[in-house]
Amino acid sequence: MDIKTNMAIKNPLQYFLEKLHHELLQIKDGVVASYIPELSHANPEWFGIAIATVDGHVYQVGDTRQSFTIQSISKVLTYGLSLEHNGIDAVRSKIDVEPSGETFNSISLEPNSGRPLNPMINAGAIATTGMVHGNSHSMRLQVILDTFERYTGHPVTVDEAVYLSEKTTGHRNRGIACLLQDFGILEDNVDDTLDLYFRQCSISVSCRDLAVTAACLANNGVNPVTGVVALDKRHVDKVLSVMGSCGMYDYSGNWLYNVGMPAKSGVGGGIMAVLPGQLGIGVFSPPLDEHGNSCRGIKACERISKEFGLHLYDTVRSTSASVLRVEYDTTQIRSRKQRPEHEEEIIINNGSCIGVYELQGELKFSSTESVISDLLEKVSTRKYIILDFRRTVEIDRSSQLLLVELIKAVKDSHMIFFTGLNAHYAFKRFLTKNKALKDIDTILKFQDTDHAIEWCEDRLLEAEGVAVNDDKLIDLDQHDLCAGLSSSELSLLQEQVTEVQFNSGDIVFRYGDPGDSMYFITKGAFEVILHLDSKHERRLTTLSAGTTFGELALLNQNRRAAEVRAQKDSLCLQLKFDKLGPIITTRLVANLANKLAKKLEWDAVEIMKLS
Ligand code: GLN
Repeated sequence: MDIKTNMAIKNPLQYFLEKLHHELLQIKDGVVASYIPELSHANPEWFGIAIATVDGHVYQVGDTRQSFTIQSISKVLTYGLSLEHNGIDAVRSKIDVEPSGETFNSISLEPNSGRPLNPMINAGAIATTGMVHGNSHSMRLQVILDTFERYTGHPVTVDEAVYLSEKTTGHRNRGIACLLQDFGILEDNVDDTLDLYFRQCSISVSCRDLAVTAACLANNGVNPVTGVVALDKRHVDKVLSVMGSCGMYDYSGNWLYNVGMPAKSGVGGGIMAVLPGQLGIGVFSPPLDEHGNSCRGIKACERISKEFGLHLYDTVRSTSASVLRVEYDTTQIRSRKQRPEHEEEIIINNGSCIGVYELQGELKFSSTESVISDLLEKVSTRKYIILDFRRTVEIDRSSQLLLVELIKAVKDSHMIFFTGLNAHYAFKRFLTKNKALKDIDTILKFQDTDHAIEWCEDRLLEAEGVAVNDDKLIDLDQHDLCAGLSSSELSLLQEQVTEVQFNSGDIVFRYGDPGDSMYFITKGAFEVILHLDSKHERRLTTLSAGTTFGELALLNQNRRAAEVRAQKDSLCLQLKFDKLGPIITTRLVANLANKLAKKLEWDAVEIMKLS
């Protein structure tokens, strides 16, 4: 096969958008808005489509850099700003969130209170703009411009021609504003608020800007390109809700049915749509339908939604299978601590009481519920439960609540540990602040699962009558490697070893040192360390009294493959190979082969479990 390198390969989404753009360019429906005279100068052929993902990738085709006025799409941004300035209750008291089912310029006010039905129609939007804080008209305008800048990622300006054009012709909006003032909904100077509203509608944007703005809303309010917070996370669902129910005016029901994403259109020809958690879409094409929505814009969003199955209500089932990376107990995978064989056997035989659940990805209500019910099914066989969150990227609020309830449910009868929570500050704080969880420090005691398993194994051994005490002196004949040695051979070996003492932290040997001896641990514990680079090291295993290290050099006299360090004050019996006679060597090598064979078997089980 002839493989060509250096060939530019087009991204499939880019390819799709180019094809769609070409196809929809043939649609000639709709008319360019002219009720604001300046808008009528727009070229009906202008057409751009852009998609921005929550990772900050932007795909675009056509006239995506052509500037046009944002018009009603601005209502979304000022509504968010108004919520931030005044709080939800104050804003709700003046502007409702009911779809009007009427055109954008309808005078849909509640009969007695004069409250506009929603913030997406002009009446509600003018009232919203009236609630933007600032000491002066120019400061309020600056606040709005700054807000839009956070969404688009660059400074924005008002298109003076369009602004003046609407200001001199916007009699209906003036009428609406006067009514709002009469009802006490608009408290400020009507002219000032209207002026601000006209300017906000005349802010110049591009199709790309709309996609990035929509992506901010898809990304919990954070601009995915710049990382700047455009809208407080607390208000994102509120803003999306009014977009969902009212954003496309009297076409909103049809839009939700066909496209299934919260969206907002403007008479400048723009539409932005949001797929929460995933992406934002911006489309620009000036010819509008009878509802004031861009004809090609609607078609483009319908097609993108349909072809990729992006309708909000077309969701993926989420179960434990998506977040439970692996579940095991210590019959299958044990800690990295190497223990004498008889201890290992006790752990393997009783290991089903230590259950480990390694989680991954995004924990949401249904996936977490599913993991918890799987876990509870086996809870009667467990005494120790370890939940490892190291590979999770998100633990949402509902999952946090469910996990707290899990702790409460099992903590009196089981030991439960949460590991790998280092990056989940919010969840950790939530746990530590919960007054009902008195034992939380114990539950969070281990950063990594390996140490948690090791601790549970120690308790298991104790429960089985094996005192886990590294400080007890172990005789040479109790070492697995000495199995089968006759008493004369043992005493011969005894004569050849020398006792060496190590203080906690002492290095016994380093990577690359000559392999000229081995060590029988008689007291204490040692760690086998691999240095990944100058700053990072990894513990391969911990060795306890009764085990040996350095014995691989018996086989090949190779240099050391890792570093060994005393974990505490310890004692060893060092055996130099140059003193060793053939009989004892044979015995030790046979025992070593036996040990390696067992280890291979265990490793195979572990690899099977994890793969
Ligand atoms: N500025 C326009 C108006 O108030 C906005 C309308 C729209 O985009 N639907 O008429």
